[in-house]
Amino acid sequence: MPLIVQKFGGSSVANPEKILRAARRAIRAQQEGNQVVMVVSAMGDTTDDLLDLAAKITDRPPAREMDMLLSTGEQVSVALMAIAIHSLGNKALSLTGAQIGVKTDASYRKARIKSIETARLRKSLDDGNIVIAAGFQGIDDDFNITTLGRGGSDTTAVALAAVLRADACEIYTDVDGIYTTDPRVVPEARRASRISYDEMLELASLGAGVMHSRSIEFGKKFDVPIHVRSSFTDQPGTMIVADPERPDLPVSGAAITKDEARITVQGVVDKPGASLEIFSRIAAKNISVDMIVQNVGESGRADISFTVPQTELDTALEAVREAAKIVQAEGITSDANIAKISVVGLGMAKQTGVAQKMFRSLAEAGINIQMITTSEIKISVLVSRERAQEALRIVHRAFELDRDPQAGSQLPRASEATSSKDASNNANARNEIAAAVVARLQSMNMEDLTIDDVSLDSSQARVTISGVPDKPGLAAQVFEDVAAAGIFVDMIVQSHPSAAGVASLSFTVPKDQLKKSVEAATRIGQSLGCKGVTSSPNIAKLSVSGVGLRTHVGVAIRMFKALATAGVNVEMINTSEVRVNVVVDGTSGDRGLTELQSAFADVLR
Ligand code: ASP
Ligand code: MG
Repeated sequence: MPLIVQKFGGSSVANPEKILRAARRAIRAQQEGNQVVMVVSAMGDTTDDLLDLAAKITDRPPAREMDMLLSTGEQVSVALMAIAIHSLGNKALSLTGAQIGVKTDASYRKARIKSIETARLRKSLDDGNIVIAAGFQGIDDDFNITTLGRGGSDTTAVALAAVLRADACEIYTDVDGIYTTDPRVVPEARRASRISYDEMLELASLGAGVMHSRSIEFGKKFDVPIHVRSSFTDQPGTMIVADPERPDLPVSGAAITKDEARITVQGVVDKPGASLEIFSRIAAKNISVDMIVQNVGESGRADISFTVPQTELDTALEAVREAAKIVQAEGITSDANIAKISVVGLGMAKQTGVAQKMFRSLAEAGINIQMITTSEIKISVLVSRERAQEALRIVHRAFELDRDPQAGSQLPRASEATSSKDASNNANARNEIAAAVVARLQSMNMEDLTIDDVSLDSSQARVTISGVPDKPGLAAQVFEDVAAAGIFVDMIVQSHPSAAGVASLSFTVPKDQLKKSVEAATRIGQSLGCKGVTSSPNIAKLSVSGVGLRTHVGVAIRMFKALATAGVNVEMINTSEVRVNVVVDGTSGDRGLTELQSAFADVLR
């Protein structure tokens, strides 16, 4: 019998009528021939209210007792849901995380799932019950109640779908799917019919996703198709699966991270271990760092800039001040008034001209780009906060994200239904794969970091234009001219302007295009009044890719540590949810690879 997991968020169970509505939906799914597991969140704002209550008593409540407190919200919901289903004449059984056997580690408020028992769930389902599981909670080895972090019910739902090898995992919420960008900022944003796990991970971490990031990591790792849809209608929403809606389009979504702050550590002595010194101190304060940019060192010194959430700026600065002494930095600057605009798409990995299109659209509006980083599937720029919303809208339009790419739709739509024969055949094949995955991973903790690949790319060279004036349109001009010369650019990094008001712009190109690239860069640099061009004919790009890179903050640190210990200097860095890339000197490539392979041996699958 097909099995469906249906998750209802807080707004979908906010009052008795909504609880009854959700109950009817589950009953209908059961009557259509499915076994049904519901996962529910706390009603409405309950979790916030519980947090407020505790805060009225003390600002330092013990974490264990907070989890004891917060877990009650979901316990209320599961009981009421079971009562609702009974009242409608059907069998239901509510279970807490502990009763199911959701085992987690012992980190209160942000526990990770280690394993989930399925025997009791299966038995209750086979007895004809709709099983109602409390989201967001589990128990550690000592039977203490733990919670998974805000929004964690999504993760419970996808994890249950994974271990039960469910045919569908439906996330019912107050929005009707995943949008190309935040519709509150850009009204012309469009709902996507489908989005890939990787794109969704990027968007979720940019704060744009409706979903808890860790739930998407689960989906990807265990191959669970996730259907995000409205709890108020029967319209299909957005499928989160392996493949994007339109693999041929470069960009599938755009996002704004409004509350970012930038920190620049100026004049760091450019030697192995400097980044490690800085970032390990910040990580120790549990702050996640983004957009790390290091300009290529002149006279043995480099500026390292990065962004942190604005609320963490002060704490991050404390950590940076300690590190700055050790790396003999010349100074520290920061800016709390910036925002990050990103575009995301699996398709951009195979296309040229994507970055330049983004830069040009911003240039035309006179919006200055303060920093740039790119990864395989994401381009991020830093702009002033005042112009950020406008920038998002401009970029969204530039990539025509408001246009329905399904027009004339011959593209296969990801299946939403479990009732049809075809879907269940597919589901069977998928189940076999998933079963193998689940079996393999049963020996380890479900949410552990897994690394798929550690790789070395020695095919590229680097070009750097230094002394680039800090004004709108420069990046657009450079990359249009580079593209016109027929050069294929991979990584792009633009540093934050130095004290003198100039930035450095580095990019990587195939080795055999280096000569042409340097010529083009020199020409462009001269015409734009830049200082000069340097290049390195022989660089090595080392990459670590896998699942959980960002929610496990230590990955970049682990890379820096391994390379620093081996005396390998890092020249360029970029990070995404699924990959961390560093560029090092070409002569260190093989050694770097060996070091990284051994540094990640325990999590390499
Ligand atoms: N009730 C928890 C929260 O508000 C978990 C969830 O809703 O997913 O964060
Ligand atoms: Mg929620």
